[in-house]
Amino acid sequence: MQTVSGFRRALLLGLIVLAPGCATNTITGRSQLMLVSEEAAVQGAVSAYANMMGQFSKKNKVETGTPRAARIKEITNRLVAEAVRFRPDSANWAWEVQLIDEPKTVNAFCMAGGKMGIYTGFWEKLNATDDEIGNVMGHEIGHALASHTREKMSMAMTVGVGTAVLAALVSSRNSNDPYAFQRNQNTAALAAAMAITLPNSRDAESEADQIGIELAARAGFDPRAAVTLWEKMAKEGGTSAEFLSTHPSPENRAERLRSLLVKVDPMYQLAKSRPATAAVPDFIDQPVNERAADGMTREEYAKKLAAEPQVMTFVAAEFEQFSKGNVVLTCATECVFGYSFHRSIWKELHAKHQWRDLAVAVMKVGYFNDLSYFLLGEAATGLGLKDAATTYYARARAAQQADKSCEGAFNTCEGFEIAKAVDAVLGVPELPPAPVKDKNYNKFN
Ligand SMILES: [Zn+2]
Repeated sequence: MQTVSGFRRALLLGLIVLAPGCATNTITGRSQLMLVSEEAAVQGAVSAYANMMGQFSKKNKVETGTPRAARIKEITNRLVAEAVRFRPDSANWAWEVQLIDEPKTVNAFCMAGGKMGIYTGFWEKLNATDDEIGNVMGHEIGHALASHTREKMSMAMTVGVGTAVLAALVSSRNSNDPYAFQRNQNTAALAAAMAITLPNSRDAESEADQIGIELAARAGFDPRAAVTLWEKMAKEGGTSAEFLSTHPSPENRAERLRSLLVKVDPMYQLAKSRPATAAVPDFIDQPVNERAADGMTREEYAKKLAAEPQVMTFVAAEFEQFSKGNVVLTCATECVFGYSFHRSIWKELHAKHQWRDLAVAVMKVGYFNDLSYFLLGEAATGLGLKDAATTYYARARAAQQADKSCEGAFNTCEGFEIAKAVDAVLGVPELPPAPVKDKNYNKFN
């Protein structure tokens, strides 16, 4: 009896934790296993990182005060200054980078919340250039932005740590156990530490390749170096390139990176022609609220970038259609589930003014109703795309008139008063002319 009830209890705990388990990534559109909340992932990573660096430090293996230690900060800061364009919330991460003095190890990582590390093997064994380092760190930051580290923490929790973890997580939710929080913290830290040793999926690798090469190009690092870097690592082989065991090669990596070159090279050329004095906040090892030279906080800086109608290359085609006002939503019943699932996420993106993410997220679902079009209109407004916004608001009104409204039997408009808001932008529609009353009308009735 004991075993059965124990097992059932574990199963029940598992279900409670697993229930909100899947989430759609706003950058990639891919559905991911997410057992760990963003906050827990970041907190876990912070303590895992502190622990890890503490141990390296004891062994005198954290390199500071050297030219390359200064270089790595400069390089990662340039990358982060672009990363916040695509994930404005990451402007508030406590970004940190440490140079780990292990000349035989070729490895680098970025944990959830922007805790980064790179080993000196990149210089000692691979003779990596700044452009190559920019690309490798861009790739790592790409993993963090696309929440791959959080995804891997979730996997670590199901595979490695097991039910003890689930129990600890659940108990910390609603119990008076004063140690529950601490236990939860430790568990998340354990999962964060494990996550960087687990291999990424090939999907995740492709995503990080795409995000990484673009961040690097935008930050002024030659995207061609992404290709040469992987070639160097492949030559170096498995003996010391830990990096390759956690970053398995997606099919045709070199070929795909080369095809991306064409898209990101113009960004690289533009970045190179930009004056080096352009003010960028200091993201690395600095308090979040520090102001940049021109008086902008990180958050203000991220907000400014997010308002520019630019988008990552791998959602560019869709986004271009959006910005021209060409998006037509046609999906009906088959998308109801996706629609119901994503509505609250859309509301959040709207509240955070993440206009680009909002537009992409609504398009990915493709559900035809007034709320979808209204939110496309809001996203276009937020990005300063006035004509597109007018088009989408008009389509929201048309959808309402066609009875495709979120109001329906259950109001599922997420608190938006669509008709009112649309009228405010487009003006109140002229009422159809009132039917002319026939003088004899009443006589025959
Ligand atoms: Zn990778």
